[in-house]
Amino acid sequence: MAEPRRVVNDSMIGLKLPDFARHSVRVATVLGHNPGPFTGPGTNTYIVGTGRRPLLLDAGAGVPVYEKLLPHALKAVSSALELERVVCTHAHADHIGGIPQVQRRFGAIEVLKQPWPGKDEIAGAPISAIGDGATVTIEGATLRAIHTPGHAPDHLCYYLEEERALFTGDVVLGAGTTVIPDDTGDLGQYMASLRRLLELDLALIYPAHGPVIRNPRQKIQEYIAHRELRERQVLEALANGEPLEPMQIVKKIYVDVPEYLHNAASNSVRSHLKKLRNEGRVVEHASRWSLN
Ligand SMILES: [Zn+2]
Repeated sequence: MAEPRRVVNDSMIGLKLPDFARHSVRVATVLGHNPGPFTGPGTNTYIVGTGRRPLLLDAGAGVPVYEKLLPHALKAVSSALELERVVCTHAHADHIGGIPQVQRRFGAIEVLKQPWPGKDEIAGAPISAIGDGATVTIEGATLRAIHTPGHAPDHLCYYLEEERALFTGDVVLGAGTTVIPDDTGDLGQYMASLRRLLELDLALIYPAHGPVIRNPRQKIQEYIAHRELRERQVLEALANGEPLEPMQIVKKIYVDVPEYLHNAASNSVRSHLKKLRNEGRVVEHASRWSLN
């Protein structure tokens, strides 16, 4: 039987989500309203906790309309207009760019994340450092941080013990696949992070983009299978011995992906090539790559 061309077939493009959604007694989403081909309708920011002062998990990009949506959502959840702290998955601008806006509205509340020197400045606020295994508690919710590098070196997922749920940030998305930047990302680490998440007892995933995932194990397995398939395709593209540039590989294997996404695909191919080079399986000569 012929292998499929991709394993993850859905995408973020055209996806719609409500401004506010209540998922459980302790979790609600407020949409960040920063839409795009890779963010879908925008970043999901999460209000977590059952008390008067819940926490905010990720702060969005700082889009003006969010400043109105967040207080509305808080009123619906806790009847008070207070936040205890902000907890962040990673330092990309669509996750921490909204922190100055949130602090303008709610005061200089504490910001927790794993530090990424040189990037955390986007938050415009001091960072309280946490790392793998750290526990963040709030009334009604216990979050355990899990270091999951690959998409970004500082990336933390958070396991919500009361629901056996995982806030995956950008490691696993509700639709499509995540970008592994070829400069600051690391596909080898990303695959190890996905395998680590598979070991958790998971009932659902709250992703940073796209809808809630109700089949978490299957989704993570699809993500792993998708990258493994792409890796085989990259190796096959190089099999006849001719050294190729990443974009030439894209033209061979991303035949069903629209051309305006080919730059992103090329980034992804470079991430695959770097992983394979680290494993001694391909070599680079003057921007062209061949099998080792
Ligand atoms: Zn990101």
